[in-house]
Parts: sequence; structure tokens; C-alpha cells
Amino acid sequence: MDFTVLTLFPELVNSFFGHSLIGRAIENKLICGHCINIRDFTEDRHNSVDDKPYGGGSGMVMKPEPLEKAIRFAKEQSPSSRVILMTPQGEKFDQAKASRFACRKEGLIFVCGRYEGIDERIYNTLVDEEISIGDYVMTGGELASMAIIDSVSRLIPGVLGSEASFQSDSFTGDRLEYAHYTRPAEFKGINVPEVLLSGNHEKIRQWRQVSSLQRTFIKRPDLFEKKALSSQERQILKEWCQELTALVKE
Ligand code: SAH
Repeated sequence: MDFTVLTLFPELVNSFFGHSLIGRAIENKLICGHCINIRDFTEDRHNSVDDKPYGGGSGMVMKPEPLEKAIRFAKEQSPSSRVILMTPQGEKFDQAKASRFACRKEGLIFVCGRYEGIDERIYNTLVDEEISIGDYVMTGGELASMAIIDSVSRLIPGVLGSEASFQSDSFTGDRLEYAHYTRPAEFKGINVPEVLLSGNHEKIRQWRQVSSLQRTFIKRPDLFEKKALSSQERQILKEWCQELTALVKE
């Protein structure tokens, strides 16, 4: 799967492409990461990429001409890729969207804005989709594009090493993922739950289901609105509630 990032700060993105699991996935040719400097597509003496907004007001706006050329160049390199504009005004990104991108395997070209954003005419003509990573405003689209590339890449077979690694992830299923522990078995007086040391796979599976449900109940009860409790889950929570009641009474 091809990822191309159009940016004024390629060193930010290239560093991401060179490290950790994403760096290894690129080395192993599971994904491709390209970075295009929008400034390379300027034609004036000063290589200007921004200008004052028509109508006045603060801040600068990214000029349309270099952006258009950069997007067309990226499309020539990867004609079937989708052009995605990073903007806080776009559709909100989530795990379901990450899965859809990973399944479709289409290349993605990310346009990263800076300053006040980009000239409106680019939205109208060259962009397939607008995406936001959340209801807050950052100084540029690079971090947002990296967040998307990262979450899509880890769903591509081979990138995480073991495909089982993401099956139980939060937001892949309907509940948050269970609690994790590693060695030592005791840390600051807190022991790893006995059952995880037992080697009994069925008991461990059951414990994890309970853990996942309890965490969802405590941290993200809104997820129960998206996917109602099954009768088995209801029973687990009832038993937990009885345990808590008994504890309070003691
Ligand atoms: N003035 C604009 C925000 C500009 S922020 C507005 O109010 O809508 C500058 C650039 O950062 C944007 O062009 C976009 O590419 C990026 N950006 C900022 N916040 C973002 C977010 N939450 N999601 C995706 N991109 C974002």
C-alpha cells in the first residue's frame, strides 16, 4: 500500500518513515512511504507557498498553484491513489475508517495544510476526501497524516508481526481491550492476577473477557450504546456487581 505525504516539512514525515515498525514495514516492502515537498512546485523567485488572505484578517493561506502541481505530480506517480486533505473540518477518523483503508489497499495521498489552511479552490477540484483526526486544531496536517498512516499500516498483514495482535484491540471489537501484564509477577506490591500465570487458556480467555467488559464499563460506557450488552455480558456485569456489593458490606 502506497502512502504519499505532501508537506512543507518533509523531514518531519521522513523521520517517521525511517523508524520503528513503520520503518521496518517500508524496508520489508509491506508498505511504501513517499514524501513530496510542496515548495519544490513553486515557480517564483522566493519559492513562496503562502499569501495573505483575500478580504483581510490574520494569518496566511497556502497558495493553490504549488499545491495543485504537487497533487498532480503525486497522482501521476500513483494514479489510483485517493487524495485526502487533512483538515479539522473533515470527517472524523476512527478505527472503522482505518480498517476500510487497509482493506481497500488503495494508495493514499495526504495533503497537509499549514498556517490558516489552504485555498478553498483546491478542496473543490482535487480532493477526494477531507479527514480530521479530532475536534482540535493543530499547526499542520503532518501529525494527522502520520496518525492515519500508522493506524492503517498496523492493520496490514505482516506489519505487526502477528495478525492476532490487533484482533482484540480496542475499537476493533466492540469493547476496550483487556488489561495487560508482563514480568515481574509482583510490582510495587501489586501481583499479576493468578489466572494469567495458570496456563489454563480457557480460564485466561474468560478472565480477559471480564477485564475487557469492566474496563469498558469504567472508562467508555458510551460504547454500550453503540453495541448493546449481550446476555452473557449482562451476566458478567451482574456477578461483578454482586462481588462489589459483598466487598462494600464486609
Ligand atoms: N484555520 C483552520 C485550521 C488551520 S490549521 C480552521 O479553523 O479550520 C492548519 C492545518 O493543520 C490545516 O490545514 C490542516 O491540514 C492541519 N490540521 C489542524 N488540525 C487538524 C485536525 N484536527 N485534523 C486534521 N488536520 C488538521
